[in-house]
Amino acid sequence: MSILVVGSVAFDSVETPFGKADDVLGGSATYFSTSASYFTDVSLVAVVGEDFPDEHVAVLEERGVDLEGLTRVPGETFRWKGRYDFDLNQAHTLETHLNVFSDFNPVLPESYRDAEFLFLANIDPELQLKVLEQVKNPKFIACDTMNFWIESKPEVLGELFKKVDLVVINEGEAREFAGEASLVKAAAKIMDGGPRILIVKRGEYGALMFNGPSIFSAPAYPLEDIFDPTGAGDTFAGGLMGYIANTGDITEEGLRQAIIFGSTMASFNVEAFSLDRLKSLTRQEINARFGEFKRLTHFESL
Ligand code: AMP
Repeated sequence: MSILVVGSVAFDSVETPFGKADDVLGGSATYFSTSASYFTDVSLVAVVGEDFPDEHVAVLEERGVDLEGLTRVPGETFRWKGRYDFDLNQAHTLETHLNVFSDFNPVLPESYRDAEFLFLANIDPELQLKVLEQVKNPKFIACDTMNFWIESKPEVLGELFKKVDLVVINEGEAREFAGEASLVKAAAKIMDGGPRILIVKRGEYGALMFNGPSIFSAPAYPLEDIFDPTGAGDTFAGGLMGYIANTGDITEEGLRQAIIFGSTMASFNVEAFSLDRLKSLTRQEINARFGEFKRLTHFESL
């Protein structure tokens, strides 16, 4: 099976306590599709400007991502500039330039409209809705977002959350959207009339899944060095949704495995700037780290 994703394809400029990178390849859809491509076929919907180099497109091509839905128009590509201090869980946005995304009106290629699995990666929620409306009969829909959209378009996001099966969101953003300090209360509020599953990303502390009455807690992989956390969330979502699209399994057990694949992919991504580590993994490396997660979390019952 395959997955369709809409989100940003971007130039990122990132500063961490360990170094900096200027105008490197980034974007929510870029990280997501590269990560998901290790598990399933991926089709991408996004827009770039005339300044977007072929070598960046080649990164996605080499991962076999279907780029029929990647439009190139006159103007400049989306740009994001961010900084991380020693608390690498917290990205500080310095600049966001939507550029060609400001008036992007996605029209899905005919072959994309039958997608069964859909991921609405972080981008304007109005665009997320426009893509969702064009998919005929999706089996499983998930979305992500960030504070930029929570603060600028909360009503549109509320509308979107009602139409998806799964919301994947950062801890701080879940609290901000719900206006609740308690994560359990925030989850209940987001899920009320909205998605039946919620996954809260907690950076180096892992992820929590709320699935009806069940709660699952997954750790993050304990890495000695984290170089650049940019894209960790999208890479997590790519592993998670790529695995779900591959197996078609949305039982509690299947979702738990998918979260661990998501955490596995995110742990590789933060080991280098941009997609430098993510773009050249092998399935053996991925499966080996998945196995380490099992040892990390396993304990005997009484
Ligand atoms: P994360 O996985 O949360 O670290 O996402 C990082 C990626 O999100 C970067 O590569 C950025 O290009 C992209 N990004 C940042 N701000 C936005 C935004 N407002 N809309 C869409 N994508 C964004």
